[in-house]
Amino acid sequence: LPITVRSLSEAMGRPAKAIMSIMFKEFGEMVTINQIIEEETALAVALELGVDLTFKRQKGIEETVNEIIEQEDASEDLITRPPIITVLGHVDHGKTTLVDSLRNSKVVEGEAGGITQHIAAYQVEHNNHKLTFVDTPGHAAFSEMRSRGANVTDMVVLVVAADDGVMPQTAESISHVKASGVPMVVAMNKIDLPEINEQKVLTDLAAQDVLPSEWGGETEVVRVSALNGTGLDNLLETLLLTAELHELKANPNRPAVGVCLEGFRDEGRGSVAWLIVQKGTLRIGDAVVCGKSYGYIRAMYDDRDQQLEEAPPSLPVKVTGLDSVPGAGDHFAVLSDIEQARELAEERRHEGRTDTLARHSGGPRTLDDIMGSVREGEIEDLSLIIKADTPGSLEAIRSEISKFEHPEVRVKILHEGVGGVNESDVYLATASDAIIIAFHVVAEDRAKNLAVQEGVEIRRYSIIYEVVDDIRQSLEGLLRPEL
Ligand code: GDP
Repeated sequence: LPITVRSLSEAMGRPAKAIMSIMFKEFGEMVTINQIIEEETALAVALELGVDLTFKRQKGIEETVNEIIEQEDASEDLITRPPIITVLGHVDHGKTTLVDSLRNSKVVEGEAGGITQHIAAYQVEHNNHKLTFVDTPGHAAFSEMRSRGANVTDMVVLVVAADDGVMPQTAESISHVKASGVPMVVAMNKIDLPEINEQKVLTDLAAQDVLPSEWGGETEVVRVSALNGTGLDNLLETLLLTAELHELKANPNRPAVGVCLEGFRDEGRGSVAWLIVQKGTLRIGDAVVCGKSYGYIRAMYDDRDQQLEEAPPSLPVKVTGLDSVPGAGDHFAVLSDIEQARELAEERRHEGRTDTLARHSGGPRTLDDIMGSVREGEIEDLSLIIKADTPGSLEAIRSEISKFEHPEVRVKILHEGVGGVNESDVYLATASDAIIIAFHVVAEDRAKNLAVQEGVEIRRYSIIYEVVDDIRQSLEGLLRPEL
């Protein structure tokens, strides 16, 4: 259908002036904001801006599925579900050991056996309450999921080694958790070691704006030894209390929807996927679409490889029956009809996308794009991730930015750190629509590629005042693209 420049701009979430400029550059036409342009042209302009609008026209299955996924349940249908927990922290502080020992200490005697396959998540029981742990510790995985619109984590355990304190990846994790708004419990680990400094850990945390509850703050800090098991019950207790406070609920009586944590190919069983149910109950025989895959659930196993008939909310299960291997972060939904599932999966394959739910419209989110949204009143915050060569530079940039005042926009520093731009920064930027400022540093190669793929802008600077200057100019719509 023909569309005005204004409506196209709204449909894409991009400034009208970007459309006008492409109309001029690519089609040699000067258009006004109220001018009507043809459908073909509109789609082409959108593609130039990195937005594929073709699928937005095809309502139908995709939309139906998104409605199923997002459909709100009546409060009387909701029952309490176990919390889904991810463990984050600096390398070598004991994440893997903690995840393993929680699992081992809580596996019901005699049930364990023959587990050779990788486990993506597991459930434990403590005082008759269940807790689900995601078995891929680390903030990269956490934020990668979030950047894909798959917010499975309800709570985070931040592991901080008592002999080491807050380290760079601890600080990164804290920034990721804050940006996600997910509650966090700190596990002060390795308290069995002789050379520890509990006060330093607490002071370090406070310096990151994570105030321990024993100092009047909101964050519980539990002393544990992942190695010998000290304090693990206490940790589970604290997690259950936190979960209770946040009233995690789901309706078990509806078609299941959730997220794929991981997929792989198994010699005997074909494509296998670890799914975590978020709402509803998943059953053998259900017709499922998961990203670009579809099929009937043929068999279902828990983390001990025991066969299950059904999976309630928050239970991670390994399923077989999908026609191909889905990816981590793909949403799944049970449909009433396998034909619908097949059609949708094939449509997605054809268009080279997994699903549209809670995703970005695609294409780069530049400083200009974000400021355009600010001008149009869609957002009020400009989120920055700042990486610099020295603590002094960071300090100087922070102080310069704090002087920036504007009635329409607040500049928020989501994360700052010394060193090159890494993948974790890019995932954080994607998940939070942030811009990365690289001051006298460059991006690691993998981060650079990821940024291109995810449409994250990395702006390099070597003069401090230019950072704020650019923000101001962009806000006024004056910024010229970097060459
Ligand atoms: P990750 O990199 O955070 O996953 O850390 P790991 O779980 O691999 O642990 C790093 C090292 O710390 C290993 O050698 C562990 O055995 C050791 N470690 C982990 N937890 C504890 C603990 O509570 N006490 C002691 N003494 N060592 C621990």
